[in-house]
Amino acid sequence: MEYTDAPPSDQAEMMRCPECGSELTADAQRCEHCGWTRDNAETAEGKASDAFAVLLSILPGLGHIYKGYTMIGLLLLFVGTPMAVGLALLAATGTAGFAVLLLPLYWFAVMFHVYSIKDRVDSTKADLGEQY
Ligand SMILES: [Zn+2]
Repeated sequence: MEYTDAPPSDQAEMMRCPECGSELTADAQRCEHCGWTRDNAETAEGKASDAFAVLLSILPGLGHIYKGYTMIGLLLLFVGTPMAVGLALLAATGTAGFAVLLLPLYWFAVMFHVYSIKDRVDSTKADLGEQY
């Protein structure tokens, strides 16, 4: 009865599996549900590169290239973004500027995507399977 400093359930020590979302202990090295293993993607370096990729996405596509998705990045940079801007401007002439509001959504979607995709830059294992 003296040991009152032990919390019954320590939520702070839990984390979610980045692959399947199961509850894991904060220091878990792997997930029993999906086989996810902790690697350098979980270090501060990995998180920093996520943030940097989002920053780079001010020019949509740069963040994807930075993360190793060169094709997607080039498509976004040279096809997706000009099309999005062009369509928004085109639509804006007919909708009194309303369509321009869609552009930030496009930017946000690109940034959100580059943040959520895996960093492919330093994973040599990715070469084993060419498609997901
Ligand atoms: Zn899992």
